[in-house]
Amino acid sequence: MKILVVGGAGYIGSVCAELLLNEGHDVAIFDNLTEGHRAAVDPRATFSEGDLSDRQSIGAAISTVRPDAVMHFAANALVGESMENPSKYFRNNVGNGLNLLDAIVESRVARLVFSSTCAIFGPPDRLPIDETLPAQPINPYGESKLAFEKILRWYDQIHGLKFIALRYFNAAGASEKFGEDHRVETHLIPNVLQVALGQKPEVAIFGTDYETPDGTCIRDYIHILDLARAHILALGSKKSDFYNLGTGGGSSVREVIDTAGKITGRKINVVEKPRRPGDPPRLIASSEKIQRELGWKPQFQSLDAIIESAWKWHQKFPTGYGD
Ligand code: UDP
Repeated sequence: MKILVVGGAGYIGSVCAELLLNEGHDVAIFDNLTEGHRAAVDPRATFSEGDLSDRQSIGAAISTVRPDAVMHFAANALVGESMENPSKYFRNNVGNGLNLLDAIVESRVARLVFSSTCAIFGPPDRLPIDETLPAQPINPYGESKLAFEKILRWYDQIHGLKFIALRYFNAAGASEKFGEDHRVETHLIPNVLQVALGQKPEVAIFGTDYETPDGTCIRDYIHILDLARAHILALGSKKSDFYNLGTGGGSSVREVIDTAGKITGRKINVVEKPRRPGDPPRLIASSEKIQRELGWKPQFQSLDAIIESAWKWHQKFPTGYGD
């Protein structure tokens, strides 16, 4: 298939593009390089630099590539930032995303795979989080992704656009070539590994008074390669649907830090800080639906394997993509 990967120079998009290319698909990447990196564009893909705020630019990319399907990763994805600047999240994740949808409809692209998030749920009434739980986001990031999911339903009903929305839990780890490099790093695992590399003096623990066994937040960390495989399976689905995507296991912030200390053999200094606004205490996925319906199965179940792959990448590329 010919796939247009929008946001394909970012962390998750770059690994998905790599896997698509490995499987023999043709890949074109569209990215504005604000969060993404030119060096994260797989050399086997074609690249065009553009921004979703520019309706003509995405329209031109789609009519040039004429893709069989589009994967949409181009969004802002930081809970903390969204609590300070909601406008950025609604404008980019919803408004600019509409430009992409309209271009897709205009060019009659049949399928879309959309990067959604567990942040649409907010603090759940029960765990693990399956698709039947109500969506009650507690931050503008989750709200913006939920709004886009709802828009997708209408575009399916009215325009016949078939989509799969994948609600990622915490993407982590790396492939051999592509890994996590944000210009301002806010994510836990890369921050911990930057301490291990001696690039940062300490890592903050945001909140030690949550109602969890060790008082720190619990997240379901899923290996980026498992996540990427789910996108490939999603391409083969004929219907529109929503799937939660995690391993079904949970690790606390302290467990992540301890595991990283063990794997890197380095001392990780920590500093305890207040809670970060917008953080739910526990998020753990039920991925039963995608396992049952699309045959997805995570190959990396342990936090050790996830952190090991990230550590390998960060050691190989200590300054990330260097831009
Ligand atoms: N976190 C932390 N210190 C950091 C970064 C994150 O304690 O330097 C916590 C954060 O509050 C959350 C968890 O680690 O409870 C995972 O955060 P991350 O930003 O990696 O992903 P998110 O769950 O926000 O998507």
